[in-house]
Amino acid sequence: MFKFDNGIGLQRVGKLRIRDRRISTPSMFLGQSIKSPVSPWTDGVPADGVLLNAYEILSSNKFRNIAEERGIKEIAKHKNVILDSGGFLYLKKSAKQKSKDAFDIFNGKQGELRKKIFKIQEKSNAIINVPLDCPPVYSDPYEERKMELTLKNTRFWFRYGNGIEKMPVIHASLSENNFKTVMKKFKRYKTDYIGLGGLVPVLMGRTTENDRISTIDKLVDLRLKFWSKFLHVFGVGGTNTIRLMFLLGVDSVDSIGWRIRAAHRILLVDGIGERHVIKKERGWSIKFISNKEWRLLRDCECPVCSSHNLSRLKKLYISSFEHRCIHNAWIQQKEVEIARDLISSGEYEEYIKNRLNTGIWRKITNYAFKKLKEESKCKNF
Ligand SMILES: [Zn+2]
Repeated sequence: MFKFDNGIGLQRVGKLRIRDRRISTPSMFLGQSIKSPVSPWTDGVPADGVLLNAYEILSSNKFRNIAEERGIKEIAKHKNVILDSGGFLYLKKSAKQKSKDAFDIFNGKQGELRKKIFKIQEKSNAIINVPLDCPPVYSDPYEERKMELTLKNTRFWFRYGNGIEKMPVIHASLSENNFKTVMKKFKRYKTDYIGLGGLVPVLMGRTTENDRISTIDKLVDLRLKFWSKFLHVFGVGGTNTIRLMFLLGVDSVDSIGWRIRAAHRILLVDGIGERHVIKKERGWSIKFISNKEWRLLRDCECPVCSSHNLSRLKKLYISSFEHRCIHNAWIQQKEVEIARDLISSGEYEEYIKNRLNTGIWRKITNYAFKKLKEESKCKNF
């Protein structure tokens, strides 16, 4: 059961109740991988939940048996698990995503894959399960056929998956018309949840201004059409995307941003942003952390920063992926708690205006505010 109170505009705070679980919203599920199983929530980071991928678990007999026999929480080391299907991962591994091969492999094997993913979801006791989807990439020549496959699999899940909670997923990379078609089809399903996938690549990738605007439009449209549902946005990366999502009424996100940044030796510094802890790291145009910024970590209350002096912290964060993971996950989770507080007190909009005020973010948020203003004229929030 999902209940919420509406804040300013589309913002909302609520409670998701599933079985004996209570999750405050907006919430964040930290993305976990069985290949790199760091679990900051076992080291004192108060994570709302964990997101795992059924396809990834299927690739290991050991983990598949654990999930099916003892439950997914044994792997996640957390009680609140969203079990994604892994359609995206499957396509990515099969071949080039836009090629006919990728589609044919998916289409040919999907009966088999569907059975396996459905079985693992039926048995592993995750709190929310995502039907096997076939996500199109941006401007995908196979968009229609991929959409049909996702719809077909979603029908299968709702027909046979009576004992599990199901979250149908719609893709932001769909054309406006197809997006509307899928929304219409999903209206028929009795479920408390709706998921939106593929938003970040269109919002942040090498796409045009128009594509970004149309992505915000789709998200707001989805939010308003499924107003009573728990809306989850898949795969948001960094803190700014998380902030934008909550401003636009999203109830939940998942992120591997904390882990990816830790792997690239990047620390999230509260109030500053992302900083490299080692000079000359290639590939990310991110500043090297200054002495002044190192000192800011003294104020961080994460399990690592609060247990060591500054010189020890420097050594730990330069050398240890796990420690960077704990700190980064803490900062991201703290951002979610800030959102809950400021949405409740009506100060979130001001906070966003102060934080998302540079570069591409300024453009995106300006459009988001314009859109919210237009919507509020038509509807009584
Ligand atoms: Zn810290």
